[in-house]
Amino acid sequence: MTLSTRPVHQEDTVPYEQALERYEPVTGLEVHVELSTATKMFCGCATGFGAEPNTQTCPVCLGLPGALPVVNAAAVESAIRIGLALNCSIAEWCRFARKNYFYPDMPKNFQTSQYDEPIAFDGWLDVEVPANEKGEPAFTFRVEIERAHMEEDTGKSTHIQADGRSSRIHGADYSVVDYNRAGIPLIEIVTKPMLGAGDRAPEVARAYVAALRDLLLALDVTHGRMEQGNIRCDANVSLMPVGSEVLGTRTETKNVNSLRSVERAVRYEITRHAAILDAGEEVFQETRHWHEDTGITTAGRPKSDADDYRYFPEPDLVPVAPSREDVERLGATLPEPPAERRRRLQAAWGFSDLEMRDVVNAGAIEVIQDTVAAGSTPAAARKWWSGELARRANADGVAVTDLGVTPADIAELDSLVGAGRLNDSMARQVLEGVVAGEGTPTEVADARGLELVQDDSALQAAVDTVLEANPDVVERIRGGKVQAVGALIGQVMKQMRGQADAARARELILATLEVEG
Ligand code: ADP
Ligand code: MG
Ligand code: ZN
Repeated sequence: MTLSTRPVHQEDTVPYEQALERYEPVTGLEVHVELSTATKMFCGCATGFGAEPNTQTCPVCLGLPGALPVVNAAAVESAIRIGLALNCSIAEWCRFARKNYFYPDMPKNFQTSQYDEPIAFDGWLDVEVPANEKGEPAFTFRVEIERAHMEEDTGKSTHIQADGRSSRIHGADYSVVDYNRAGIPLIEIVTKPMLGAGDRAPEVARAYVAALRDLLLALDVTHGRMEQGNIRCDANVSLMPVGSEVLGTRTETKNVNSLRSVERAVRYEITRHAAILDAGEEVFQETRHWHEDTGITTAGRPKSDADDYRYFPEPDLVPVAPSREDVERLGATLPEPPAERRRRLQAAWGFSDLEMRDVVNAGAIEVIQDTVAAGSTPAAARKWWSGELARRANADGVAVTDLGVTPADIAELDSLVGAGRLNDSMARQVLEGVVAGEGTPTEVADARGLELVQDDSALQAAVDTVLEANPDVVERIRGGKVQAVGALIGQVMKQMRGQADAARARELILATLEVEG
């Protein structure tokens, strides 16, 4: 492997809108998905994340002489289900191949992969691209899938400086390698070149990865955490002059591992390619590194389509030949497509598009479903999960489901509000107690003495005191300025130390003043 000698300084770009006047962007995405099988692709080693380095290894995944691999049947089933969910054809017979190259985190010196015989091929996925900030509308884009093939993950190298800090490979004093990840099953899903999205191409790329992740989560085949590298994305980009039908030279930006980065990296490459083509030069076919902090890419290694990995069929593994009955059986296990499911639930819950978007962004569909099943109204479930709790989860950098609050808690909170025991601000305090681990909503309300005063006589006494203390406001209300009642409600609530029903306080004020509300 030759390292590129091209400069790493920031290259020229042209403004995005200008680039789009002259060129049509073409993108192609390669997405690697780490399967959540209990064991590795070709051995029985565990796959759990975060174990002590090199404790989940054996002669097979360390590539020791004489060790023989065996295909993980659960991984093949996941691959077939993914292929079917992507509307692919499933191969009747296919083999693994050895992809030969040296890399220190790949102990066998070849990767067991599939080459010209993928398990799944020729599919498509319809992707919903949301409306954007510029006010351009939502639309559906069909992404053609070229293939989905099985392979294995590599280990993980960490490069370290003499002072013990980790660094990039250049400038490191030594490197350590952890083979726990070596041999974890991967599915690589490759799109055909995507054309015709125009200025929306970066958004389409992002929406595709988002839709693919949703689908994979619905299939329950991966943990799906992009930040942990369960889903890794390489983004290919090229430009064609408007009106041309010949694909331009592509670059492949590696490891763009968040949805936002996919969109940004594609957008950046479009502006960089345009500057090269505007100058009458040629795009250099290479891999690129994405820099999250600066939002640019830099040259990686040259990469021609004819890179020769000396692929040959893996002699130690039998071919994979799923019977048509097996494929049919697996097809019957496919989940409802996520976009359809979202539409169905939105209609059933009566949420607006905006409300549903917040729910989806909060990752709260499942918990809301469970909360409604536990007896809450959809509106209350949404309000708590995609409001208060989503804000808190966001601030703590955790998932909304990791706050220690259960759907049953929220349903109970809603029933306390519904029964008139808590008002909204008291419910918030109760929720705070539940998050703090003080118990169930009822326990927290009891312990903190939170309970609306139901007895009108205490409330009436407070109303009388407040009316007496504010003759000027009373005058204004009597003179027709009914909205001035708000200031008085606030004072009544204060007198009641928040333990009253504001709506009832309003009724009593108006009734006492004999004014119509
Ligand atoms: P590689 O060996 O380079 O990883 P793959 O076939 O795995 O090749 O993936 C190549 C990806 O690049 C595919 O998604 C394909 O659609 C895309 N692609 C191919 N040609 C172009 C092009 N000219 N512009 C943009 N994307 C392209
Ligand atoms: Mg590839
Ligand atoms: Zn092993």
